[in-house]
Amino acid sequence: MRISSRIWIVIAAGIAAIIALTVWYFYFKENGEGENGNTAMGASATYEIELSLNERDEFQIRTVIEVANETERPFDDIGFYFVPNALNSDETPDLPQEAAETAISSIKVGDEEVEYELENNELLVELAEPLEPGEKEAIQVLYSLALPENGMRLSQDGNNFFLAQWYPMLAQFDNGWDIEPFDMDGESYHTGFGDFRIDYQLPREYLVASSATDGEVKPSVSGTLEGDRIKDFYLALMDPEEWIHETVSVEGAELRLFMPDDPELLEESAVMAEAAYVFFEERIGDNPFPELDIVGNDGYMEYPNIIEVATTWEALDSVLVHEIAHQWFYYIVGNDPFEDAWIDESITEFAASLFLSDYYGDEEYGFSSAEAAANAYRQEKYANLPLDEFAGAQYLSTVYGAAPLTLRNFFEERGGQEEALQFLSAYYREFQFDYVNTDKFKQFFEAYFEGDQSGFLDSWLK
Ligand SMILES: [Zn+2]
Repeated sequence: MRISSRIWIVIAAGIAAIIALTVWYFYFKENGEGENGNTAMGASATYEIELSLNERDEFQIRTVIEVANETERPFDDIGFYFVPNALNSDETPDLPQEAAETAISSIKVGDEEVEYELENNELLVELAEPLEPGEKEAIQVLYSLALPENGMRLSQDGNNFFLAQWYPMLAQFDNGWDIEPFDMDGESYHTGFGDFRIDYQLPREYLVASSATDGEVKPSVSGTLEGDRIKDFYLALMDPEEWIHETVSVEGAELRLFMPDDPELLEESAVMAEAAYVFFEERIGDNPFPELDIVGNDGYMEYPNIIEVATTWEALDSVLVHEIAHQWFYYIVGNDPFEDAWIDESITEFAASLFLSDYYGDEEYGFSSAEAAANAYRQEKYANLPLDEFAGAQYLSTVYGAAPLTLRNFFEERGGQEEALQFLSAYYREFQFDYVNTDKFKQFFEAYFEGDQSGFLDSWLK
């Protein structure tokens, strides 16, 4: 080979490398894609729901969901999570609770009845015509629903109804509808911010608490609930005879507490809720929603603008504060709880521990829930595994234990809790009403701190 042709080969190889790098750079920048996939939802929805409850404790539900295609390619079908269909032992073997009973009677697109596939919690609605990029289509689903007695999320407890994950929730589209099988170990569904209008009809009066702004607490038999930018809409219908309530006004929001008949527990929960809400509002950032409902039904669970908390004195503060912190991390800063459960759970537990440390002036107590979780079981090295890759209790020990403690230890050498709160505040400002995955978190962390942080980050995030 002659020298001149070698030079040409080197130049050609150089040009090819530059083109490849440019394509790679723009492809990843455009798609925000890393090993955890895209954080864009690809579709958005407006939900109009009519719900009626009959004397036999059965709901009849009509949902009209207007879906917008936000991708660059047409949709041949529309994918939803329909969790009630997975809540039976045929779909979820070893289901550790009673089954839900649900039956879809019709699905229409426009006025036309259409075919659909329903398996586990995956509902795929066929479209006669593809839904083009930028276009919208209304999907109507009619179904009946009876709730599992004392279920884990979706639940009926006597004459009280806790409607969680109860309607078809639009899934993420990322080269296809991204719908994971139902998994009771954590939250296996991912749905985006949507706008809601819900009309309800009830056979007798109930106290209503929901993801919407419900206003003054009073029993009702019918009404309309409306709310925008809500991730998954939760609705509680409570027997007025069984609950006492109190409303506390804090900075720009009403905290509405509902507890079983225990005035002392209600009072203590109200004091703690106010302190935690004010702390997160002032130290992390403004929560733009005007109302947070707090229901003492031992659900230990967060939903947009409403949480389920403890009725025991031992669990009162740790559960209440954790679920309140979730309004900032899970709701307003969103993430896929199947792929990256740590993003909401570990950061929430870290923020809750910072509040409790500050409130009691005792860091050991503040982080005691995280310590207990970490010591409960052998931990995984990496916190950012998908839900189905954790072996049982490793999910708890790693995501609720090891990861928040890792963050605490990092900040101990970096200005302590003040610096930690400033970091969380900057993170919250950056990602409000957006979705974060591990890659985005790492990029933000690297940009926030001086110097290379990859050694620290790679030691616990794959
Ligand atoms: Zn949590």
